[in-house]
Amino acid sequence: MTELFRPSDAPVETLVVVGTGHAASALVASLNQHRYQGRVVLVGDEKHPPYNRPPLSKKFLSEDVQPQELYFRSEDQLAKNGVEVRLGVAAVELNPLAHTLKLGSGDVLSYDKLVLATGAGPRGLPRSVDETEGNLNVLRNIADAVRLKAELGRAQSIAIIGAGYVGLEVAASSALLGKRVTVIEAAPRVLARVAGPELAGIVQAAHEAHGVSFRLESMVTRVAQAASGIDVFLADGERVNAGVVLCAIGAVPNVALAEGAGLAVNRGIVTDTRCATSDERIFAIGDCATFPRDGDLVQLESVQNASDQADVVARQLCGLEAEYAPVPWFWSDQYDLRLQSVGFRKGSDGSLLRSKENSHAIWHHRDGRVVALDTINASRDHMMARKLMARGELHLNSLHEVEFDLSRLWAPSGQRLNASERVAP
Ligand SMILES: Cc1cc2nc3c(=O)[nH]c(=O)nc-3n(C[C@H](O)[C@H](O)[C@H](O)COP(=O)(O)OP(=O)(O)OC[C@H]3O[C@@H](n4cnc5c(N)ncnc54)[C@H](O)[C@@H]3O)c2cc1C
Repeated sequence: MTELFRPSDAPVETLVVVGTGHAASALVASLNQHRYQGRVVLVGDEKHPPYNRPPLSKKFLSEDVQPQELYFRSEDQLAKNGVEVRLGVAAVELNPLAHTLKLGSGDVLSYDKLVLATGAGPRGLPRSVDETEGNLNVLRNIADAVRLKAELGRAQSIAIIGAGYVGLEVAASSALLGKRVTVIEAAPRVLARVAGPELAGIVQAAHEAHGVSFRLESMVTRVAQAASGIDVFLADGERVNAGVVLCAIGAVPNVALAEGAGLAVNRGIVTDTRCATSDERIFAIGDCATFPRDGDLVQLESVQNASDQADVVARQLCGLEAEYAPVPWFWSDQYDLRLQSVGFRKGSDGSLLRSKENSHAIWHHRDGRVVALDTINASRDHMMARKLMARGELHLNSLHEVEFDLSRLWAPSGQRLNASERVAP
């Protein structure tokens, strides 16, 4: 990373960024790329500089990976690049009238522009259910992962509450470590909130082949310390005992600062298509934000969303125009499966599954147009679909040939294929 571009005679505005996660880190990179001329101050409540969060449920648990190996860049590197970093201190009060941000240390920062990149926190079980007094694990940051890894190292078994991506990734990592793994899920299938039933079925079968057992449609009524390990009680009367229990039932956007400042909040911090909040000097990006799409407010939790929203804000701070209209994408690694999703599956009216040996592609469509694609070990299809869907050009009639090669749909701009040409011979 080169130094932020700052001509000496330019008036210097101060940009304060709350959060040092993926969105903040991508923002710094984009500001640099677009030659931002102001002063940048990053404030983060974690003691670590910006780091790569997705490995926390994957290689960090199953392999010998140290926290420092996840850092994008060190505090020194950020400082050398002209970014002022305040780590290990939370922002506690935002005053949009005075344009100030108060920190837990008592310091008050003034800003011209401010970006909220506060991410999300793990959703917990109700207090009436969790009787472990702090012995239930969650997984959001390095501190959580270090604790989980240490406990997992001493235990023979783990019970995971929640079969979303984080829960299943930890299940895979634990199974690879030889642990006995039980996954408990309230919905009738795994990945119910985030992926279609076809992908979910293939993923569950892979877990079962690695010895993971599932309790689906199972509500947890009580979690309590046992003579040995922790007991998880289910509504049907079953008791699951495990050395470690992880609660992975989703995340809640961190909106307290925004709410305290009187900004519009609706689950996440409400933004427009420019990622601007209800206060014109304040933007919100990443997991903490919601943005408008087709009359709905959408909140995404992915590296793509954090990075692309960061770029939209950076461009505007550098005097360029930019709007956020994503074709979202996501990935997850479990065993030898690379799961990738692109698009918005919600509202699809059908799906088409194609499988070849260990690779699968599930096309979700509406009115003949492909709206989302889930793949397993089919990265090439995923990448091509990303490009084609960004151009709005992917139609179901393109997919009816079994050996169809998506790359045939991709032509450099100016040589676009029309719909009738898209069906492979
Ligand atoms: C275990 C795990 C695995 C994941 N795997 C994947 C994956 O495979 N693929 C994928 O696309 N996405 C994955 N994600 C999601 C992805 O990591 C998030 O979408 C991304 O980190 C969002 O970036 P963010 O900057 O919005 O939030 P974060 O990265 O969470 O950063 C927010 C930061 O703000 C800090 N903060 C909050 N409030 C304050 C405050 N008041 N003052 C100061 N600092 C504050 C937080 O402590 C945090 O450090 C995973 C997430 C987790 C937890």
